[in-house]
Amino acid sequence: MGRALAVAMVGLNGHIVEVEADIGQTLPNFILLGLPDASLKESIDRIKAAAQNSGIPLSRRKITVNLVPASLPKRGSAFDLAIVMAALEAAGDVRRTGRTVFLAELGLDGRLRPVRGVLPAVMAAVRAGHEEFVVAEDNVREAELVPGARVRGYLSLAQVAVDFDADTQDLVLDLPEPGVAAPAAETGEVRGPAPDMADVAGQGEARLALEIAAAGGHHLMMVGPPGAGKTMLAERLPGLLPDLQDAEAMEVTAIHSLDGSGPAVGQLIRRPPYEHPHHSASAVAIVGGGTGIPRPGAASRAHRGVLFLDEAPEYDRRVLDALRQPLESGELVLHRSAGTASYPARFQLVLAANPCPCGKATGKGAECTCTAMARRRYFDRLSGPLLDRVDIQLHVNRVSLAELSGAEPRESTHQVAARVLAAKERQRERLGRFGLAGNAEASGRLLRGVFRLPGADTALLDRALDTGQLTARGYDRVLRLAWTIADLGGHDRPDRDDVGLALTMRQRGMGT
Ligand SMILES: [Zn+2]
Repeated sequence: MGRALAVAMVGLNGHIVEVEADIGQTLPNFILLGLPDASLKESIDRIKAAAQNSGIPLSRRKITVNLVPASLPKRGSAFDLAIVMAALEAAGDVRRTGRTVFLAELGLDGRLRPVRGVLPAVMAAVRAGHEEFVVAEDNVREAELVPGARVRGYLSLAQVAVDFDADTQDLVLDLPEPGVAAPAAETGEVRGPAPDMADVAGQGEARLALEIAAAGGHHLMMVGPPGAGKTMLAERLPGLLPDLQDAEAMEVTAIHSLDGSGPAVGQLIRRPPYEHPHHSASAVAIVGGGTGIPRPGAASRAHRGVLFLDEAPEYDRRVLDALRQPLESGELVLHRSAGTASYPARFQLVLAANPCPCGKATGKGAECTCTAMARRRYFDRLSGPLLDRVDIQLHVNRVSLAELSGAEPRESTHQVAARVLAAKERQRERLGRFGLAGNAEASGRLLRGVFRLPGADTALLDRALDTGQLTARGYDRVLRLAWTIADLGGHDRPDRDDVGLALTMRQRGMGT
């Protein structure tokens, strides 16, 4: 009997799979149980060819391999190495494989290929009490990010076999040259310098709104004509957010590892991610899903960072509707026939929209030809539960020439981020005992109850509610913003001015 361990990923959750192999006396054959039909034949072919080309063929006797538990959904290729090692142990070619977790795909030539999701797989296995890991060379750095994991990386099956006491006589240890250059396992954060607030000319109100959004974790909607700088502002929001804490960084890196669309993850992702899927992107690309076990989409890759939807009314209605779930719960649960997977998706949402469908309505000298009906329909696409979660609505106008050439010193991202960090600390101290990370998560009940402000300071706000200028929801939003403004100002609680500024910001927006 041969044994080896592998990990099945369901969403971000990994489950240990025991691979058992048995030798029979009947006709030479290779039987694999516990994998879905579709990937079974592919796996068998790959495994047989890899073993053959490594000098340790599996064809001498009948081998039955069983993946336990069979009920777990599994994707084929990540189990290749565990399956072949269990089979080789059963055949007596290698020894003591039973306590090691093997995570690699096999090439037909016996090469080990990196697999997606090594980080969350190793995390799950370590949590389950396992310490020994064998992965493809290109996955070593990622696997080693997990404390408590002892990781060995190899280029080929033959090399792995040597380390598990195989007789080296027939092994093919020299691999043919790879057809394509192996991907360099460099850092997952190869980027240019982060965009800086110092590049933003003028836009005093927008800068302030961005700072408040960053400090309180508020979702933000910007309305303005094309060329007003909405994208420029949005892509500067992540830079205002503090580095991710250890556990957050691990979680974010795990999602990006599983997604596999970016470069190999060679180090923890410490900076809040920024995702800006185009409105023509599919619902699967944005929300997640796909065939087989559902994969994460842009919304999950934006976890602990920023999700920017430019020209938001143009997105597929299903995408906008699906985003309500993560805004509510911080995660996306995806149901597919192959199984249900859930991915964290606690992002800060930034929406941008033109003032009208044609984008030409600027207020002055407008060439806009949109009918009132067309305009209303455009914004109606965003209405309701999605906008209910957006605390800040902001009008962004094109910057004037005077502002562009103005010599006034502009604050850098570094300077603003320092204030944001201090404001976040204040919120943690105040809201931590309620299990809340920031003002954006505080309910109106909490703000009108435990954190009730003196009537004199909310007089303006109360009047706006009484006269119908504000809805009850709008009232709570202004309170949330006022607290963030107070946190940025270093006040113990919002004073009359903080409430007044929050109310102004709210009323300059589109609705109440
Ligand atoms: Zn128009």
